[in-house]
Amino acid sequence: MSRKVLVLGEVRDQQLRNVSFEAIAAGKTISEGGEVVAVLVGENVASLTSELFHYGADRVVTVENEKLLTYTPDGYSQALISVIEEEKPEGIVFGHTSLGKDLSPKIAAKLNSGLISDATAIEIAGGNIVFTRPIYSGKAFEKKIVTDGLIFATIRPNNINPLKKDETKTGETSSLSVEIKDLRTIVKEVVRKASEGVDLSEAKVVIAGGRGVKSEEGFEPLKELANVLGGAVGASRGACDADYCDYSLQIGQTGKVVTPDLYIACGISGAIQHLAGMSNAKVIVAINKDPEANIFKVADYGIVGDLFEVVPLLTEEFRKL
Ligand code: FAD
Repeated sequence: MSRKVLVLGEVRDQQLRNVSFEAIAAGKTISEGGEVVAVLVGENVASLTSELFHYGADRVVTVENEKLLTYTPDGYSQALISVIEEEKPEGIVFGHTSLGKDLSPKIAAKLNSGLISDATAIEIAGGNIVFTRPIYSGKAFEKKIVTDGLIFATIRPNNINPLKKDETKTGETSSLSVEIKDLRTIVKEVVRKASEGVDLSEAKVVIAGGRGVKSEEGFEPLKELANVLGGAVGASRGACDADYCDYSLQIGQTGKVVTPDLYIACGISGAIQHLAGMSNAKVIVAINKDPEANIFKVADYGIVGDLFEVVPLLTEEFRKL
C-alpha cells in the first residue's frame, strides 16, 4: 500500500541539517512507493529546496513567515498543522533532534495520534512497517508497528542512511501562507555556546574526553585529533562537572546521544550513564590507563596507556593519511 509521507526539513543557520536527508530516506521506506513531501518552515528557506529534491523528496512545501525565523513550539506547530491539514499525509517523519523531540509530541497530541520516537531503523517485514528503537538507555531494542491511524515517527540522527544524492533530480515546490498568531514565546536573541566545527549530534567522528583529561587545556590534543579527522569533541559528565568543558559537550543518559562511525573515548571510565549516549557508535576506541576500566567492555579497540602520549601519536599518524 503506497502512502503520502510528510518529512520535516530541519534548517539551522540557513543550512539543511543532514538528518533532513535521513528523514527523506525514512519517508521513502514508509511511503512504500508513494509520495514523500518535504516541508521547510522558516524565513527565506525557499532557496534550500533543491537539496531536498537531490536527496529524494518528490515535492516540497514551504511555509515562510517572519515569525518563524527562529524556532518556537507554538509557531512551528501552527505552521506544520496547517501543512498537515492541507496535505493529509498518512505518515510523518521528523529528526529526533532537540527541535524534533520538542515539536513531535505537541503535534502528535494535537492530531490525536501516536508517536514512535527515536527510531534507529525502519523496515518492511511481514507486510508491516517495523520501527526499531532503543530502550533501557540503549541496552535493548524494541520493534514497533503502527496498527491504526497516522504513522508518525522521529528518527535518531546518523542511523538511517540518506539516499544517494542525485543532482539532476528536481520537483514541484509550493508555498503555503499561514497566519501565525498568539505566540506565547518570542525569541529575542539566540546565544549559542561557541561550538567549534562539526555538530556533535551529527558528527561521523567523535573524540570524547573524560576526567582523565584533567583540565581545560587537556582537551587541546583531543581538539587537534578531531580537527584532523573532521570530527567533533564530546565529553563525559565527569569532565563537565570538573569544569574542563561546557555541558553542551556532555554525552550520555543526561546528555547527548551520538551514533558516529568512530568514537574515541579518552580518559573515560565507561559508567553506565555514559554508555547510554555512545554505545551504539559503529566503532568504539578506548584509551585509558586502567586496563580494568569498564569502557574496554564496549570497545572494539582498546589502548591501555596515557592519553597524553597516545592521542598526539594518533593525530600524527592520521595527519600522514
Ligand atoms: P571517571 O569515572 O573518574 O574516569 C576517569 C578515567 O580516566 C578513569 O578510568 C582513569 O583510569 C582514566 N584516566 C585518568 N588519567 C588518564 C590518562 N592520563 N590517560 C588515560 N586514562 C586516564 N556521565 C556521563 O558521562 N554522561 C551522562 O549523561 C551522565 N548522566 C548521569 C546521570 C545520573 C543520574 C548519574 C547519577 C550519573 C550520570 N553520569 C553521567 C555520571 C557517571 O556516573 C560517571 O560519574 C561519569 O561518567 C564519570 O566520568 P569519567 O568517566 O570522565 O570519570
